Amino acid sequence: MGVKKSSQKPAPSHPSRIQKVELHQHVDGSIPVALAWKLMKRHGLNPVETMTQMEKLLILQDQEMGSLLRYLDKFHYPLWITQFYENIARVVEAIVEEAHRNHVRLLELRYSPVIHTFAGLTLRQTISAALSGINRAKKRFPIQAGLIVIAMRQHGPHIAKILARSAVSEGQQFHGRTGVVGFDVAGLERGNPPKLFKEAYAIARIGGLGLTIHAGEDEGPQAIWQAIDDLGVTRVGHGCSSVRDKVLLRRLARDKILIECCITSNYQTGAVKRGRPHPIFTFLEYGIPVAICTDNTTVSGTNQTLENNRLGRRLSVSQLAMIHQDARHYSFIQTEQRNT
Ligand SMILES: [Zn+2]
Repeated sequence: MGVKKSSQKPAPSHPSRIQKVELHQHVDGSIPVALAWKLMKRHGLNPVETMTQMEKLLILQDQEMGSLLRYLDKFHYPLWITQFYENIARVVEAIVEEAHRNHVRLLELRYSPVIHTFAGLTLRQTISAALSGINRAKKRFPIQAGLIVIAMRQHGPHIAKILARSAVSEGQQFHGRTGVVGFDVAGLERGNPPKLFKEAYAIARIGGLGLTIHAGEDEGPQAIWQAIDDLGVTRVGHGCSSVRDKVLLRRLARDKILIECCITSNYQTGAVKRGRPHPIFTFLEYGIPVAICTDNTTVSGTNQTLENNRLGRRLSVSQLAMIHQDARHYSFIQTEQRNT
């Protein structure tokens, strides 16, 4: 299976006990329902009367599965409340707390600042609000955490460059506590190939940020080739379509490019067809580094415990523990911060 046996500490007895590394989790899709409801009520923004009804709007329902568009549609209600500094800090703090409860000990959260500026916050303020939420949580729980800034594909390459600059200016090297650790591009893949964002990635790279991208979720392997060759990413979010290209699989293995695997989400968006094995098993066979990720705990109705339990049907607890241990080396959080 390509996963080395642990020769160090004895492996935990159950997947839920493993100390976990989360490298791909979105803020907007991970706001705990009870907190989203509370903030909506406070601001008089609730579109329905009860929290149970709200839950259906925030969590993907069975009849909505299989389409990336319907999945992305779940993100518009959270945006109503996350336009204000304190709300952003508060939801981020709650997400870190929930991750910690699921034994996550290293967490990279990601977030698109530009869609949090509708009420007048500047890009820098929205980033600062998210960092503040992480710092508040870090005071309360032993967890290493960083923020990845996302540029949305549909906003185009120019806005992506502006975001890359904002991300660099809030880079972890300028912060005593939490800073921005990486840069990502997400959103609708079709019609927005990675190569369009070459300059934005150059800015992020020169500015010292780690590079990842959403690719191969709704597009073929060529999107992943472009992301590696034109943008120089060292990690790929989803990367599902790479299983269709053996040369690409060998390249990912050779260059140790990590795939951020989001099992539940991939079935929900249709990136992986129901009944088919998840590509993570092929990645492991090829020796490609992987991380087990939730993508969006609220929208996907999941968490790190559930994702690991799901994989625990085919992988042993020690294999799962080793995946998390290895994924730590691919984190964008600076080593000195990771070791503290
Ligand atoms: Zn994602």
